[in-house]
Amino acid sequence: MARLPVALVGIGKIALDQHVPALSSSNDFTLAATVSRKGSVPGVPAYTGLDAMLAAHPEVRVVSLCLPPVPRFLAAEAALKAGRHVMLEKPPGATLAEVHALEAMARARGLTLYATWHSRMARAVAQAKAWLTGRSVIRAHITWREDVRKWHPGQEWVFEPGGMGVFDPGINALSILTEILPEPVHLTGAELEFPANRQTPIAARLAFSGGVTADFDWRQEGPQTWDIEIDTDQGRMALRMGGNVLEVDGQTVAGEADIMGEYPALYARMAELVALGQSEVDLAPMVHVADAMTLGRRIVTDPFHF
Ligand code: NAP
Repeated sequence: MARLPVALVGIGKIALDQHVPALSSSNDFTLAATVSRKGSVPGVPAYTGLDAMLAAHPEVRVVSLCLPPVPRFLAAEAALKAGRHVMLEKPPGATLAEVHALEAMARARGLTLYATWHSRMARAVAQAKAWLTGRSVIRAHITWREDVRKWHPGQEWVFEPGGMGVFDPGINALSILTEILPEPVHLTGAELEFPANRQTPIAARLAFSGGVTADFDWRQEGPQTWDIEIDTDQGRMALRMGGNVLEVDGQTVAGEADIMGEYPALYARMAELVALGQSEVDLAPMVHVADAMTLGRRIVTDPFHF
């Protein structure tokens, strides 16, 4: 079958690290154009504005948005209005309401909107979900501690309103949690640490119903930690390496410490959704972040500089 032309918008870290390699090995898509003020991909027609790209490339059926969350809504709206299917990086928007609006727009036009959660495609997430089926969760703890300077070098937008701060990686953990838990949970309390010179938190501690807790921190240098540990009525499991390794009762049973499979799986899912004429928009991870911002106790901490 002919590969569908796709345009990538926002040629920054994730576009170059993951989207471009995933598209270059995709059997479903071919990268037909990019839109970015500064970035480009060698050999691919490059535009600095979305409208010019949409006008010049009527063959582009899918627009994949790798922009930060705040500028993403207007780009998604323009692409849908131009009759293109849209794929959203995580988190799918700056607010819940704007993503609901995009969902309605896509539905009205018979287009696909896919709010991706790359961590749900990590190697061991499906096995963890299957293992938890039929078990009762007694307690669960998430430890998501990484170095913002390593993963978001100089990206001021993460500390601007709508940038979500430490919830930018933390929402990946929440995307896994909301996928694998047999019963949904809701936030009951949160403590958020805001650097004195910033608009978004650099650390967060969350408590949920059902004995679930989380510790997100963006100040961890050295080894990075992306773990979800769960005790059940029938044993204990841990997802490590951002969902890529599954341990049961202390023994590794699945996966490997490598995230390169996530983005090819996202594009394969997008191809499936377009073929089926469906959308997939699950906002459960973002609801928890919005609730933490609503209910969280604010603590002012040391100023942060890149
Ligand atoms: P990034 O390196 O800052 O790239 C985003 C690109 O969007 C920029 O290079 C910029 O390109 C363009 N852009 C347009 N309007 C912008 C604005 N108002 N502010 C900043 N950039 C703007 O960010 P990223 O790390 O790729 O993250 C993009 C999205 O991917 C985020 O939602 C993030 O959560 C998600 N993501 C990131 C990672 C990671 O490891 N970094 C992993 C998974 C997912 P031009 O200036 O050329 O227009």
